[in-house]
Amino acid sequence: MSDPRIRTLLRQAHKTAENGKRTAAVQLYRQILEEAPDTADAWAGLGNVLPTAAEQESAYQRALELEPQNQLAQTGLAKLHNPTPEPEPEPEPAPYHPALEPLPEDKSLTCYRHPETETALRCNRCAKPICMKCAKRTSVGYRCPDCIRELEAGFYTAENSDYVLASIVSLFLSVIAGVILLFVGSSYFLYIIIFMAGGAGGSLVARLTSYAIGRRRGRYIPHLVAAAVVIGAILPSLCISGLVLIGLFMGGDSSLAFTAFGPILAPLLYSAIAASAAYYWLK
Ligand SMILES: [Zn+2]
Ligand SMILES: [Zn+2]
Repeated sequence: MSDPRIRTLLRQAHKTAENGKRTAAVQLYRQILEEAPDTADAWAGLGNVLPTAAEQESAYQRALELEPQNQLAQTGLAKLHNPTPEPEPEPEPAPYHPALEPLPEDKSLTCYRHPETETALRCNRCAKPICMKCAKRTSVGYRCPDCIRELEAGFYTAENSDYVLASIVSLFLSVIAGVILLFVGSSYFLYIIIFMAGGAGGSLVARLTSYAIGRRRGRYIPHLVAAAVVIGAILPSLCISGLVLIGLFMGGDSSLAFTAFGPILAPLLYSAIAASAAYYWLK
């Protein structure tokens, strides 16, 4: 292999093979072997680029016959007999989606609060598996009880003093409403007015109470204010009814017994409407 032309051609063929142009490389090796059939490196190189294992094997063998220590042919033959397995591509990790609530393929999940309960549901905030009993449906999806509590802790900031102040303010305002109702008497026209004004009265009480407690929210503030609206509105007329009843027992006209509870109708109507308005305003 002293011919420099052959050496140049050989370098060219190796380079072509390295670049993956196997067909072109085969042609180049064959061209060399036509001119110099005893070039072991050309046989070995040919073995690397031939299409079938049998052809490769015979090419390598030819190279080794010519040059038993030929490195290229030896490694090629070794590779042919002991093919190293292609490294398996890493399985792509499944994209993690806490928002993907029902995971039907994830059958082995169990509720983190009930380890014996299998579930396919996850909290869409912390992704913990939760069973149907623990899951709370919110406007943004299923949530676990821990997340619900955590979010509520930030939402409900009212302290005990706020509850006290809220009940004083709403009760005081509602007693005023009850006293006003005492003086307007009773007529069908009045009931229509109460029907229309009750909602406005209730939300006004709610608004002023909320203002008084610094707009802080409490889980039971709406319930408390609604109760205060009812009690406050009815209390004045209940007192009047009580006075009338006491008068009856003291020996008054028994025909007055029917009229004793007359004044309470208007406050009852008002408190039903106003209490629900206050409740939903504060909710
Ligand atoms: Zn559970
Ligand atoms: Zn959660």
